[in-house]
Amino acid sequence: MHVRNVYHCAECGREWTDVWCAQCDDDCPHCGARHNSPCKSEDAEESNHE
Ligand SMILES: [Zn+2]
Repeated sequence: MHVRNVYHCAECGREWTDVWCAQCDDDCPHCGARHNSPCKSEDAEESNHE
């Protein structure tokens, strides 16, 4: 089971999504700010085949 996490960067204010097997922190792909926590998570079963 995978979840699509929605992140919001506290540094640059942009958003991105990433698919993980669990909720976890991610680095901002725009400015490189580290350890952003997901602000939303949803099931990602049908799309995003690794
Ligand atoms: Zn950022």
